[in-house]
Amino acid sequence: MEIQKQSKQQQQEEFALASVTELASSSTSSSRSDSQSAPVIARFSAGNGVAVLRFNRDSESTDSISVDVKTAQLSKLGPLQSVCIAEASGADTGKEKYSTGVTVQFRNEEESRAFHCAFEQWKKKDIVQGTLLPNGAVTSFKSKFEDKIEPSSAKMYFHYYGQLLHQQNMMQDYVRTGTYYAAVMENRVDFIDRVVVDVGAGSGILSLFAAQAGAKHVYAVEASEMAEYARKLIAGNPSLGERITVIKGKVEEVELPEKADILISEPMGTLLVNERMLESYVIARDRFLVPNGKMFPAVGRIHMAPFSDEYLFVEIANKALFWQQHKYFGVDLTPLYGSAFGGYFSQPVVDAFDPRLLVAPTISHDLDFTEIKEEDLYEIEIPLKFVASVGTRVHGLACWFDVLFNGSAVQRWLTTAPGAPTTHWYQLRCVLSQPLYVMAGQEITGQLRMVAHNAQSYTIYLTLSAKMWGPGAEQGGILQTSSCKLDLKEPYYRMSQPQAYAMAQDQQPTPANTHTGDD
Ligand code: SAH
Repeated sequence: MEIQKQSKQQQQEEFALASVTELASSSTSSSRSDSQSAPVIARFSAGNGVAVLRFNRDSESTDSISVDVKTAQLSKLGPLQSVCIAEASGADTGKEKYSTGVTVQFRNEEESRAFHCAFEQWKKKDIVQGTLLPNGAVTSFKSKFEDKIEPSSAKMYFHYYGQLLHQQNMMQDYVRTGTYYAAVMENRVDFIDRVVVDVGAGSGILSLFAAQAGAKHVYAVEASEMAEYARKLIAGNPSLGERITVIKGKVEEVELPEKADILISEPMGTLLVNERMLESYVIARDRFLVPNGKMFPAVGRIHMAPFSDEYLFVEIANKALFWQQHKYFGVDLTPLYGSAFGGYFSQPVVDAFDPRLLVAPTISHDLDFTEIKEEDLYEIEIPLKFVASVGTRVHGLACWFDVLFNGSAVQRWLTTAPGAPTTHWYQLRCVLSQPLYVMAGQEITGQLRMVAHNAQSYTIYLTLSAKMWGPGAEQGGILQTSSCKLDLKEPYYRMSQPQAYAMAQDQQPTPANTHTGDD
């Protein structure tokens, strides 16, 4: 449905309808004896702590019918017609309560469905009264998402995904999109005649795949302004689009008219967990999925191995050399050298590296999206234990991830491993400012701890230890330990192609390099 206006805070939402007709009322308090039938705007809004639905003949008209959404009921009379019954204001005569009603005529089925979804959404909204300003009360809606996430982070995040160029970047990752397509098409049996929810639909591409695979209906939930483009794309593919409803809003907040048999989503960020969208995926599971319903993907697997990369280490260390100047325009910069050095080593490195840089067999850690609790994603602790294959200097830990489409017909993995065809996620490396020295066969132990923060990312704490050799070893294993703390939100992108979300904040790609890269 075409929404003409929707404020960022969802304080107001408008729908165009074919017409509304006020039901004949015996109440003498009704000031509206003339039933009307003309194109109208239906507007949901928050006022004085209640959600109100107002039907206006046009935006300017004062001639309107208002209902309190909390007490109102909306029922379908037919595919294009519904009736909305609510308590009539001023109709309470002391003993009896009277109702007011309107029949609503929609322009098409898709618009009817979207209106019903919005109605349920507004009904459930918790309107929190805020400060009274001269021009009216400020109201806001609290959701799980808003409890956890800093509003400025969310604003930037959804602004980023509201732009087609970033959706294009993901779509042009053919490894990613092609694997989703293959996984859906090979597993038609999981989609045919099923209700699907696309969690974070973006352009709507996965919803269109699900419809191609024979889904009965797909609800494409998207919080950013991309929802409008998704509507356009879906409307332009009518044979599939008639089975897709785009719902603009957060999966934590929207209401859907029915449960889903299967969820499809692409919620993975750098190192799988960046962006904290896995939590939204899990919330969507708990809110929308039938028991034992399917999730595409169902499992995320983080892989880790120590690496040795002298060149990378020197490159990072050298960045701080600038601050070693004693006479920079006559100023001694060295007081800030230590801070700059620490700053560069607190950035995880994102690039595609040669798997020959890995110096021990990998270990992995699974996240089962079908089982995991949302809170389990707030802090993820992974114990590390490797056996070095060669004698070398270990410069840190390399990480990447796979996800599994656990289809009924075919199981397919999407991998972002080094050496495999490169994706827009690349790989991630946590670099230690103090490398460790190991010998072949030596054990490397430690921990990778990831703690979620309210800017939709994680703080990473890495510790790696190895027993010393040489004089100390005879005395019984003195450990050499090296640790680092990194912010996953501030990675160092080491290549020139367009990047995944996270560089949006301060490293927006310049127009010159946004359209160049096929991943
Ligand atoms: N499914 C699309 C887009 C994936 S990117 C594709 O595969 O191409 C993730 C999308 O999820 C973004 O468009 C983002 O705006 C949306 N998103 C992230 N968190 C969300 C949430 N909590 N509710 C609704 N949409 C969300």
